[in-house]
Amino acid sequence: MSSAGGAPQNVIPAHLLRGQKALVTGANSGIGMATAIGLGRAGADVVVNYVAGRDEAEKVVEEITSFGVRAAAYEADVSDEDQVVAMTQRMVEEFGTIDILVANAGLQRDAQFTEMTLAQWQKVLDVNLTGQFLCAREATKEFLRRGVVPEVSSAAGKIICMSSVHQLIPWAGHVNYASSKGGVAMMMQTLAQELAPKRIRVNAVAPGAIKTPINRDAWSTPEAEQELLQLIPYGRVGDTQDIAHAVVALASDLMDYVVGTTLYVDGGMTLFPGFATGG
Ligand code: NAD
Repeated sequence: MSSAGGAPQNVIPAHLLRGQKALVTGANSGIGMATAIGLGRAGADVVVNYVAGRDEAEKVVEEITSFGVRAAAYEADVSDEDQVVAMTQRMVEEFGTIDILVANAGLQRDAQFTEMTLAQWQKVLDVNLTGQFLCAREATKEFLRRGVVPEVSSAAGKIICMSSVHQLIPWAGHVNYASSKGGVAMMMQTLAQELAPKRIRVNAVAPGAIKTPINRDAWSTPEAEQELLQLIPYGRVGDTQDIAHAVVALASDLMDYVVGTTLYVDGGMTLFPGFATGG
């Protein structure tokens, strides 16, 4: 079986998020890049966060501004409290407010369990979990300060946490990463419970296997891709567009009653396809 087709093209409604201001972390690569561009295409103004790679961030800004909306690249390490506070304050000063946070930045530092160093464990938890905590906290302060502006959105703010199918599927050799995403799942639900009465919607997107630099080894050769496809009932490896579409929809008022949910965007990976013929 070969990977059939790709994500559908040109499906984002141009005015779905008009007038909203979005912050996307880790937006100069992979899923974050596609998501920032997708939000811009939907009419949002977008801050493109990056920690390294200013040129790529500026290219994303250029593409977003071609849709007739505003965009800017802000450098900040999401695991550094002072830098996250400064980034969100700057966004409020320069863009007026924040309506949508996509807490996307993440990384892997893989190792077999007994070989994993404390530094590898800590780095992944710092970026993937603490980074989302810090960005969500600072964005929430702004949502609460501003409240609901009905002409812009029915909610006071939307937080979308980038999780992974590995919030559910254990992953040998990646205990730091799987633990960080398990943490994201419970953080997301707890925040959703705490903030829903303030009309803040917190949800997560959990991608399956999406072609980006983070997992190049898993799809960059035909043999690797064939092996990966065994895990994907829908028969294709995901595109970054697939995730961008899910985030745009979740951030919009089309999803106003969706609170505390993880949307798996995984071609059916979490259907445990190994059980289709056995078990
Ligand atoms: P990627 O490596 O292309 O992008 C990750 C981005 O995060 C990069 O821009 C990187 O610079 C940024 N980043 C890393 N550390 C940061 C820090 N301290 N501060 C700010 N930015 C930082 O990988 P991707 O696949 O696009 O990953 C994006 C998110 O999607 C991650 O949270 C990842 O766990 C998740 N995810 C990816 C897949 C997949 O198959 N690609 C599957 C499930 C979940």
